[in-house]
Amino acid sequence: MRIGAIEAGGTKFVCGIGNSQGEIEDQISFPTERPELTLPKVIQYFQDTKVEAIGIGSFGPIDLRPDSTTYGYVTTTPKPGWSNFDMLGTLREAFRVPFGWDTDVNAAALGEVTWGAAQGLSSCIYYTIGTGVGVGVYAEGRLIHGLVHPEGGHILMRRHPDDPFAGGCPYHGDCLEGMAAGPAIEARWGVKGHELPADHIAWEIEAFYIAQSITSAILFNSPQRIILGGGVMQQSQLFPLIRKAVQANLNGYINSSAILEHIDDYIVPPGLGQQAGLCGALALGLAARDRALA
Ligand code: ADP
Ligand code: ZN
Repeated sequence: MRIGAIEAGGTKFVCGIGNSQGEIEDQISFPTERPELTLPKVIQYFQDTKVEAIGIGSFGPIDLRPDSTTYGYVTTTPKPGWSNFDMLGTLREAFRVPFGWDTDVNAAALGEVTWGAAQGLSSCIYYTIGTGVGVGVYAEGRLIHGLVHPEGGHILMRRHPDDPFAGGCPYHGDCLEGMAAGPAIEARWGVKGHELPADHIAWEIEAFYIAQSITSAILFNSPQRIILGGGVMQQSQLFPLIRKAVQANLNGYINSSAILEHIDDYIVPPGLGQQAGLCGALALGLAARDRALA
């Protein structure tokens, strides 16, 4: 069985072909340009591959309401050409197979539940901390959409007392993304994150914001695991700082050994590593195929 997977990122597209065990057999990647340049490359890649279904994990915001006239569209992005673009419809016209369609971070959460760090659990929250901050939510055995889809990267923050940085989000200034995404680190310190030493105060401040949002996520959703991916989380010294700050924030209030005693297994990197996004799209494709057969 061959299933197509598309990780549609704001910076790059990754397309792959995989199987029901979550194994990616082939993949390619190209930069995200305007849709009329990028989508033909996607279509060309899957031509003649005989995939049985295709899963798309997309940057957003996107329309996930099946009864909406703009279902399958990228909605309000500032990315040139992509605002109000019918991504799913364009691909459906090219391939008559079942499609899975969700946010990149919801896809990654599903991939992690299916084959990765949250395997077998009925809930998890997946963060990506990179060019932006995205949050995918899997709860009670399914991905959460609700009104639109979770946008946990933009929650409001209590500020770090030693951080005068104004924040870089064009909508909210000092929301989580505005304070903690890769570009915020660069704007605050004048160098890219990977150029800062591991013991720099930058990471204490970074962990402060991420931990604050995780604390809220735990209190709101009670997830069984929290997975942190994205370029910024390559800084592995962040993990112990975040875990410690989450425990301090909660201050013993949540009576769970996962947090009180085993937090190293509770706040973790993606089990699927750099493939979390693509494997997530594969999981969406598999689910779409299973729905179509049911
Ligand atoms: P994207 O979010 O565009 O899909 P990434 O998750 O790689 O891609 O995020 C890119 C952002 O993460 C950039 O702002 C970059 O500076 C930052 N970043 C990437 N790698 C590292 C690293 N090793 N350490 C710190 N920051 C990093
Ligand atoms: Zn914001």
